[in-house]
Amino acid sequence: MDAKMRLRMAIQDVQRTEAAQPALSSRRSVFFGPALHRRSESPLGRQDRGRSDFVTPTPRTIGRDMASNADEQKTCPLCREKERLQSFWRNPDFFRCDACGAIFRDPFPSEEALKDLYERSWVAPEASRAETGATDSGVADAIAGYLLRSTDSPSFAGKRILDFGGGLGAMAAALRRRGADVFVVEPFGVDYLTGRGFKAYRFLEDIPAEFTFDGITSLEVVEHLPDPTAALRQLSARLTPGGWLFVTTPNPEGLNAAVSGSSWREAEKPGHLLFFPAPTLKLALERSGFEQVERKRWPIRFPNAPVIKRAIHFLLQAAMVDGSVRMLARKPAPDQGASALAS
Ligand SMILES: [Zn+2]
Repeated sequence: MDAKMRLRMAIQDVQRTEAAQPALSSRRSVFFGPALHRRSESPLGRQDRGRSDFVTPTPRTIGRDMASNADEQKTCPLCREKERLQSFWRNPDFFRCDACGAIFRDPFPSEEALKDLYERSWVAPEASRAETGATDSGVADAIAGYLLRSTDSPSFAGKRILDFGGGLGAMAAALRRRGADVFVVEPFGVDYLTGRGFKAYRFLEDIPAEFTFDGITSLEVVEHLPDPTAALRQLSARLTPGGWLFVTTPNPEGLNAAVSGSSWREAEKPGHLLFFPAPTLKLALERSGFEQVERKRWPIRFPNAPVIKRAIHFLLQAAMVDGSVRMLARKPAPDQGASALAS
């Protein structure tokens, strides 16, 4: 066995650990709801559409997709670039946008196929964790701790925090344990999360407008969104000035993706519409009005993994080629960033 083969096997081993371990990167949820019912609107609601110079006011709705519009010109779902697009992976097919760096599925699955996938998953959410959310509670707790430290607070008491794409509620529970008043958005999991005692909503726009948030977490969600920039802008609109947003997404520049190509397990999941190399996610956040955007190198441990696998994780994270891109961003406060929000 040559060195490359051994490396590949080690990585696949780590992948299996992550999959079995309910890591961050296997959490799933979807935000197609409003798009399914109100096609002309954004996936998240009615607000603030098309103000971005990053997104034109008339983005393609999913479902009316490239498969059924073969002669329609291919367009980057993130920045609307039409020219500088090149094939990136085959089978499943992904393209890379040379303008913004996004790597996107082509075509997107139909709305009906995705809705069906998620609805079936939520019939038995605990048995369908690959789709409904598999964040390990220990990992969620570690993230909550890092977020507290980064905001210089002893606890989240008195803070209202939204977990956007709550899955089965692990992150929401970790935030609640640290004192936060937690709201959760999860299109197909409202009943389940309500049963766990959370204030759960199908869509962002369903949360009464008087509620704004000191912080928002969104773990492994943005890759599911057909129009991520619109979503990020709508999240920004619900933050108090100076509030923070923490986002994670699968890392297409990680070692797993590099070695596996189109058989990367994240690329094989039909709900994953686009991937963000770290600079692309930073750009998307900045163009959605956020500032102080930082990639976080917090070491995330997988407490039940064997020592050797934990060591590999540690090395991959240190080299920033692990399975997840984690970023923390701020909404500008009025005195320091008003110009950044002006359109
Ligand atoms: Zn692009």
